[in-house]
Amino acid sequence: MDGSLLKQLLIEYDSKRQLAILEAENRKNNLYLEHPEIEELDLKINNLSISSVKDILFLEPEKKEQKLKELQEKMDELIKEKNSLLKKLNIPDGYLEPNFECSICMDTGYIVNNSQTTMCPCLKQKMFNLEYNKSNIGNIEKENFDNFNFELYSNSSNYDLYKSNSSPRENIKVICELAHKFVDNFDSPEEKNLMFLGPTGLGKTFLSNCIAKELLSNR
Ligand SMILES: [Zn+2]
Repeated sequence: MDGSLLKQLLIEYDSKRQLAILEAENRKNNLYLEHPEIEELDLKINNLSISSVKDILFLEPEKKEQKLKELQEKMDELIKEKNSLLKKLNIPDGYLEPNFECSICMDTGYIVNNSQTTMCPCLKQKMFNLEYNKSNIGNIEKENFDNFNFELYSNSSNYDLYKSNSSPRENIKVICELAHKFVDNFDSPEEKNLMFLGPTGLGKTFLSNCIAKELLSNR
């Protein structure tokens, strides 16, 4: 993956994240205009959080615990009040939250777990898709083993024409089995390469796409 593609993706992530936050902010402001009582409750909640820090900071340790408990109870009450008000107004759950495309990384592209930062599956998938498109593998969505049509191959054998006692259909079935085996053993160092030889129109590209599709979806 080249770094500039990742950089480009992260710029896109940042824009969609900012947009989701901005939209949520707009929804909230519109709701405040219609229902100022919600804004009042939000203000109370914010003020309580700020005052709790101040209050607790200078308290003796034994009083701290009691104070914390009291503040938590007050906070729970306010949140409960706000939630029931939202419910009464038929505001759906999460309406005031940003609507991120990915709920795992919240459109940051990364997940922080136990102080370890890893790439989110959504970003990995996007990078994979870009690489996939760059790789010039054509029609991979249509040309896969599920759509392989054996009916296109004649079922009658003709030694003079095909230099084989098998019919083209029997032959392609053997080739497909080999291709499946190739996919199954792809990671094995014992597995040999495959080479398709023959004139155009026999299905070499189609079969290569089937293999590519199978390998990529197993990754
Ligand atoms: Zn994500």
